[in-house]
Amino acid sequence: MDVLFVNATFVTNDPARPRAEALLASEGLIAAVGDHDEVTRLAGDATVVDLGFRTALPGFVEAHGHPTRDMLLRQPDVIDVRAMDYPTGDAVLARMREVLQRAEPHSPRVFFGWDPLQQPGLPDPTRDFLDELAPNNPVVVLHAAVELAYANSEALRAAGLPGPGVMRGAPGLRAITTPLIRESAADLPWLLEREHQALAAAGITTVADLGLSQDLWAVAEDVARSPGARVRMRSYAPPGEPGRPGEGDAMLRRTGIKAWADGGPWTGDAAFTFDYLDSEAGRRFERRTPPSATAGELREVLAGHFPAGWQVACHAYGDAAVDLVLDVYDWALRMHPRPDHRLRIEHCGAMTPGQYGRAAELGVTCSLFPAEIYYRGDVMLDELFGPRAGGWCDARSALDAGLRISFHNDSPVTPPRPLRNIQSAVTRRALGSGRVLGPEHRVSVDEAVRAQTIDPAWQLFSDHEIGSLIPGKYADLVVLEEDPYTAEPDSIAEIGVYATFLAGVQTYQRG
Ligand SMILES: [Zn+2]
Repeated sequence: MDVLFVNATFVTNDPARPRAEALLASEGLIAAVGDHDEVTRLAGDATVVDLGFRTALPGFVEAHGHPTRDMLLRQPDVIDVRAMDYPTGDAVLARMREVLQRAEPHSPRVFFGWDPLQQPGLPDPTRDFLDELAPNNPVVVLHAAVELAYANSEALRAAGLPGPGVMRGAPGLRAITTPLIRESAADLPWLLEREHQALAAAGITTVADLGLSQDLWAVAEDVARSPGARVRMRSYAPPGEPGRPGEGDAMLRRTGIKAWADGGPWTGDAAFTFDYLDSEAGRRFERRTPPSATAGELREVLAGHFPAGWQVACHAYGDAAVDLVLDVYDWALRMHPRPDHRLRIEHCGAMTPGQYGRAAELGVTCSLFPAEIYYRGDVMLDELFGPRAGGWCDARSALDAGLRISFHNDSPVTPPRPLRNIQSAVTRRALGSGRVLGPEHRVSVDEAVRAQTIDPAWQLFSDHEIGSLIPGKYADLVVLEEDPYTAEPDSIAEIGVYATFLAGVQTYQRG
């Protein structure tokens, strides 16, 4: 089937023709892109899609998400108490009491979004506190930064865990939540389809799942082959899972291994070379936290996967964790040299210009999280880092060092909204006070768009098939109501997604 898209400005990411007026898709692939007359002449009896003089970009690529985790949080048993809707501790606790009063005895409830940094007045969610709040129901409270959870005694019993009720990191989280919110395997494909819909609505056509375990691979495979598939998925498995690198197809492919060098800064688990501020919030945490893995442990992950052809993506927020990862990558590359390895570092919050330079020398690539500047800029400035917050998520230095970078929303940590990342990297403005964090670290709209399209496609070893609008690649498109290149920078995140297309087939239409 041929589809002719007309009446739009196409942003192509093709240096030979950065803008175009029409695009012809044939059997899902781009057959021609160029001037209106030139492309229309080739179109024959193609179905015509009039885009109403909007702006079309290559479909957004989310290089670091968690669709199979996010989908579980969309279930009815999971209650969203994030700061966006519940801005104080009192509001969170009132919501929890209300939900628990209506819950059948022994039916589980999972609350997601607990965040003492953003919700003043929250108590310490100890096991005793949660037992008192919910004596009759298994209850798990997930921190907004996701990789921290608190459980009451009933929940621990249901999961067969001894205690003490605080779980850190993805494995602990899975252990406590799986028995509660994965009641029916039959629901999983449906939940993943809903997740696909949510991603398509944000203009995303490809998402990487950082930590897709083997038991969910089969679900992802079923959905990828079903008519409900709306996004391409790229999987990064935890170390030691089965499968071969590159296995799969353009809809779902095994791409890499996920590793961790530290935890998150919003729970006090990131490994910095400096102390948190001596503030009310900063005092909640240890002054400094060491990396969560030793060099030996990370070397073992690399030795077990890199020589077999796997790419590795390692979580590192703090600069101490980044040093560790760069040392281990350096070691792996000397032991097993490989051109074009695209070894990744994830989040890179406090990564320094010098570290970006070293990453560039090693051929390492980085995935950054600019939305945090928007959501947590004030907390960073006033409570956690002071003036150091100006250098957080330094996309400018990464690009100046010559790196290809991607941006991510790390959903469910923040909602999957690439336009929010683009705005945030361009303005570096914090929600709330509106202050700008390190104006010298801003990037251009074009640099930010590349970090949500062609460069994440490259990070995912998929730039031969997606990420730019050139003949031979898939006709994956996001159509925006306004051109982000000419929009007021502080309003980019509010630009509406009008429609999304995957291989020329519409996957989302604005209602
Ligand atoms: Zn993540």
